[in-house]
Amino acid sequence: MKILVTGGAGFIGTNLTRYLLMQCNHQVVVYDKLTYAGNRGSLSDLENHPGFQFVQGDVCDGDLFASVLEQHRPNAIMHLAAESHVDRSIDGPEAFIQTNVVGTFKLLNAAKSYYQQLEGADKDRFRLLHVSTDEVFGSLAMDAPAFCESTAYDPHSPYSASKASSDHLVRAWQDTYGLPVLITNCSNNYGPFQFPEKLIPVVIMKCLRSESIPIYGKGENIRDWLYVEDHARALERVLDRGQVGETYAIGGDNELTNLELVQQICSLMDELRPRSADGKSPEDSRYSSLITFVTDRPGHDMRYAINASKIKQELQWAPLQNAESGFRQTVKWYLDNSIWLENILSGGYQLERIGGVNVQ
Ligand code: NAD
Repeated sequence: MKILVTGGAGFIGTNLTRYLLMQCNHQVVVYDKLTYAGNRGSLSDLENHPGFQFVQGDVCDGDLFASVLEQHRPNAIMHLAAESHVDRSIDGPEAFIQTNVVGTFKLLNAAKSYYQQLEGADKDRFRLLHVSTDEVFGSLAMDAPAFCESTAYDPHSPYSASKASSDHLVRAWQDTYGLPVLITNCSNNYGPFQFPEKLIPVVIMKCLRSESIPIYGKGENIRDWLYVEDHARALERVLDRGQVGETYAIGGDNELTNLELVQQICSLMDELRPRSADGKSPEDSRYSSLITFVTDRPGHDMRYAINASKIKQELQWAPLQNAESGFRQTVKWYLDNSIWLENILSGGYQLERIGGVNVQ
């Protein structure tokens, strides 16, 4: 299959692209605007792969997107391009409305025209998979059952509201125009190539720099965590075997408070990159001594959790990594790839782009 992946230079997109090319022998065309969150250097090992192509483009540019569909003629679209950081959506919601809502609308219109002129087997197998988040369901009470596919939408942040809007648009394009779509709602991902504004790479970076590790409120908010390659496998499975028109909730059965999560990452750092104990008490030489509680995020959802029974039972998917193995691999990856991390922190990955090189 030839799959067009929007947002393929972002965190999940780079891991998904690698999985589709290397594990599934699909061809991949990445379509990505290369915002601050896009990093073509994260795809540098795939640049010479014969099945890989890259197009720099904005999903809001419907004409360009339509011409890319015409030129590359994919069998499927996996739509990941989005503004994805909740804190940024609070400070500046407009980009979220543009990319996540207007961009998805433009993409759907182009995909509809493309689909309508497909014929025969190409038409039968065409799918659009829209990749969304569990945050559209809002906040769970501590003792409430986990989110599932039939949970009512109740988004609270500009980010989750924009993603909820895009989910509704995708369903409308199926119901109104017959576009064959699938939707996934997944919990928090972690793993290699995540931009260091998200919690786990922030914690690792702060540890490496011996800076305070900020945790919102009392660190009691609960999230479910899934290793990114397990998410990539789930997405491929949904595209390959999912029922058109259906939604699949994806999660890691791995609920942790933010404080528990940060403490686990700090313990792994203690083991894998111990701090110098010079002049410090044993307690102060542990990375967890860097934890600092800061003013809570406005409208901070208390708990997200996913009941992933449907994808497990109907599509025989299950995560391969548990928390212990996934967090260990992730911390090791950031320690082994400090150049990648430094290149982002210094802004070097964007300077290279201005020079047109785009590869680090
Ligand atoms: P990311 O921010 O790391 O990457 C987003 C990518 O989209 C970047 O490469 C960026 O350049 C690109 N992009 C942004 N605006 C664009 C535009 N207008 N046109 C084309 N490309 C554009 O995000 P991520 O964490 O990889 O998330 C990918 C998708 O998965 C998003 O849709 C997000 O809502 C969803 N999701 C993420 C998580 C998570 O934990 N990260 C969980 C569930 C769902």
